[in-house]
Amino acid sequence: MSIRSDSAGPEDAECTILHVDMDAFYVSVELLSRPDLRGKAVIAGSPSGRSVVLSASYEARRFGVRSAMPMATAMRLCPHAVILEPHHQRYAEVSASVMEIFGTITPLVEQLSVDEAFLDVSGSLRRLGPPRRIGELIRSTIARELGITASVGIASTKFVAKIASTRAKPDGLLLIPAAQTVEYLHTLPVSALWGVGTKTQEVLARLGIRTVEDVARTPVSVLQRTLGATGTHVHRLAWGKDPRPVTVSRQEKSIGAEETFASDIADDDTLRAELLRLSHRTASRLRSAQLRTSGISLKLRYADFSTLTRSRRLAEPTDSAHAVYVAACQLLESLGERPLSVRLIGIRAEKLESAAGSAHQLTIDRQDDNWRLAEQALDRVNGKFGASMIIPARLLRPPSGTANGEASNEPSNG
Ligand SMILES: [Mg+2]
Repeated sequence: MSIRSDSAGPEDAECTILHVDMDAFYVSVELLSRPDLRGKAVIAGSPSGRSVVLSASYEARRFGVRSAMPMATAMRLCPHAVILEPHHQRYAEVSASVMEIFGTITPLVEQLSVDEAFLDVSGSLRRLGPPRRIGELIRSTIARELGITASVGIASTKFVAKIASTRAKPDGLLLIPAAQTVEYLHTLPVSALWGVGTKTQEVLARLGIRTVEDVARTPVSVLQRTLGATGTHVHRLAWGKDPRPVTVSRQEKSIGAEETFASDIADDDTLRAELLRLSHRTASRLRSAQLRTSGISLKLRYADFSTLTRSRRLAEPTDSAHAVYVAACQLLESLGERPLSVRLIGIRAEKLESAAGSAHQLTIDRQDDNWRLAEQALDRVNGKFGASMIIPARLLRPPSGTANGEASNEPSNG
C-alpha cells in the first residue's frame, strides 16, 4: 500500500499528534557556520579515537555512518568525511529556539531530547488550520528562522507519529490517516515497535514473528508467555493502540503580552487602548491553549526604567478578553497618579487552569457569555486570516468612566 504524503482529507482532523525531529541536528547546526560543507560527508564529534559520532550528514550516512557509532569505525567507513568538533553551547541555543517555536504552536509540547518533541495540536486547529498545515508551518518556520530542516510525522497516536517522522526524513512530512494506521503498521518489521530491541527481535524470530502484522496475528497469551508484560504492550501497539497522551514537560505558569511604546505615554486613554489590545492577545492565547486564568497582573515600566507590577485575583477563572481587560483597568486605576510617563505596559494571566472539560455555565452571567461568544468568533476570524489581530471597533472604546468598566455595549459579532 502507499500513503501519499500529500493526501489531504477529513481524516486529518483525528491526527492531532505531531512528532517533530530535526534532521541530523548537530551536523546541521555546524553547517550554519560552515556552508561550504553543505552536500558533503560531514560528521559532528570529537576526532579523538575513543569518542562516538554525535551526528552524521546524510551524505556520510550513505556510507553506513550512524550516530553513537565509535568514531574510529565511522572514519573507516567514510574516510573522506570532514569531522567537526562539537559546539554544545550552540546546540543548546538552537534547541531552545526550536522549543520556542513549538511553544507558539501549542502549550502541549513533550520534549524528548535536544532536537525532537511531541506536540498535541488538538487545541490549535481553529487558530492554525488542519494538522498537515500546522506541520508545514513548523517546518517552514524552523527553516526560515533557524536555517535547519525538520521532519514531521503526524498521526493519531504518539507511536505512529514517531514512525511517520522517521519515514519522512530528511526534510519531509508524513501524515498517517487514523483509518489507515493498522494497515500501515502491518507493513513494517517488528523492530519498528517501541520496546522491541535486538534481544526481543531474536526471541520473536524464533517464533517466526518478523513483521508487525505477525505480532498482531499472534495470540496475546503467546506473546505474554514469551515476553512477559512487554507482550501485552507490543500486541497493543501492533493494532495501533497507544493511549499515552502528550505529557507537557514544561507547564506554562503564566501567559502574557506586553508592549513598549515608540514614545513614552502619559495619558490614560492611550494606556487603556493598549491594555485592550493586550487583553485580546492574552485571552486569545489562553483560549487556544484551553486554559483559564484566575489572576491578572499588570506591569508598568516608567520612562526612567523603574518597573512595577500589581496583581489581583479574579472572582472566577476566565479566558475572556473583556474580563482580563476590566481587571487590568482596575489595576491601572489602583496605582493612582503616575509619577512619570510610561515606557512599557504589559498584562500577565496567572493562576492558570485547564479549561478542557469545564463546560461553561451559560446561565450564570449572560453578559459575560456574550463577550465570550464574540471573542470565540474573533478567534475563528483570526485563525482564518493568520496572526493579525482583528478587534471590533466598538471594543476599542475604553470602558466608560468607572474602573470596573461594566460595559453597557453589547459585543459586536466581529
Ligand atoms: Mg533528530
